[in-house]
Amino acid sequence: MIKVLDTRSSLDEFRKSLSAETSIGLVPTMGNLHAGHLTLLEKSCMENDFTIITIFVNPKQFGPTEDFNQYPRTFEQDLEKIANLNLQLKSKIIIFAPKDPDEIFAKGFSTTISVGAITQLLCGRFRPTHFDGVTTVVYKLFKLANAHNAYFGQKDFQQCVIIKKMVKDLEIPIKLHIMPIIRNSDGLALSSRNQYLNDDQKLQALHLPETLIKIEKMINISVDPKKLIESELENKAWDYLEVLDTKDLTLPNSKTKEVVIIGAYRLGSTRLLDNRVVKLNA
Ligand code: AMP
Repeated sequence: MIKVLDTRSSLDEFRKSLSAETSIGLVPTMGNLHAGHLTLLEKSCMENDFTIITIFVNPKQFGPTEDFNQYPRTFEQDLEKIANLNLQLKSKIIIFAPKDPDEIFAKGFSTTISVGAITQLLCGRFRPTHFDGVTTVVYKLFKLANAHNAYFGQKDFQQCVIIKKMVKDLEIPIKLHIMPIIRNSDGLALSSRNQYLNDDQKLQALHLPETLIKIEKMINISVDPKKLIESELENKAWDYLEVLDTKDLTLPNSKTKEVVIIGAYRLGSTRLLDNRVVKLNA
């Protein structure tokens, strides 16, 4: 039986029952689990005595006109997917799925953790309060789980850079692990929001990973992708398409060792994110 906890006090109790030597991994999610989430979970189980996977649709990271109400909540199916994982892993998993947001943000909660300018780039241009919502909930989850290791997906690259910065700035004693993007066989990065797409949009969506691959190939043979990016951006489906230094999401310079090709592509009201990391030749 997988342990499912839905209150903060039951999580506290579980945490207190463990000795200080017991290692804990944390996998924060909003549920509607797919293979991307499950690889984070499996990795954490391999590397820790126990893994806490959180399933919480965090209201603070949605803007007022965004899809908070519509976001797929599929707890029973999520439970089944976890239950179907390799037997050895299951006893190490604790699901923390608070039914009431007050379990995370008690009444009167008014603090925001904001990492600053980097939250206003890329996705932040279109979702100005999103990353503050993410860092505030992630900080809370770090505290509640009191974990040693936390697992995030490279799929949300900007989110990873921002969380790394928060951990560094606030000296949070947790080790971050960033896991590669899991894709469909056609190349589309898995996302809970892919199910908003109709069949036609699913085909159009492939333009996102395909363009990133084209740019990667150009970079690998030292061809400047600037012209290609400019012509792509004439297509208004792109919210952004950029090549940036992986360290801090600034424009690459002569010292840059690694870049991320990062894009957001809009189909109807669905925004899809993707990226590819490329090492530069010395
Ligand atoms: P979400 O439930 O969308 O908030 O995602 C929870 C975690 O799963 C985040 O760290 C995401 O970056 C990660 N994730 C989502 N999609 C993928 C994917 N296709 N491959 C790898 N990790 C992913």
